[in-house]
Amino acid sequence: MDIKNGIVAIEDTPESWRKFADYLSGKPKLPSAVWKKVWKLYMDSKTWEAKANRVKERDNFQCQGCGTISVQLNAHHETYVRRFCEKLEDLLTLCDDCHRGTHKDGLIYIKLT
Ligand SMILES: [Zn+2]
Ligand SMILES: [Zn+2]
Repeated sequence: MDIKNGIVAIEDTPESWRKFADYLSGKPKLPSAVWKKVWKLYMDSKTWEAKANRVKERDNFQCQGCGTISVQLNAHHETYVRRFCEKLEDLLTLCDDCHRGTHKDGLIYIKLT
């Protein structure tokens, strides 16, 4: 990870994203438009894709809400305490329906323990 003229350059590797998380943790909150962009970049990254695939593999490509297989599956964040450097235990495989269910009231649930 590199910072020049206020621009952060992140290599798409787990290590580089972890450094970015460390960097953010000492900073005031990013403006929400910037934050949205950052989150989308992460969600589109190879690092996230590889992690999400490992979570689905761990869960045998089965929704952990309803047990369905062979549908569109999502790696859902059970906790955001390790954003950008999640451990597999922070994530859960959910189908679209179950995933929407967890977010349907518009709130993001954060497990504090
Ligand atoms: Zn489901
Ligand atoms: Zn989710």
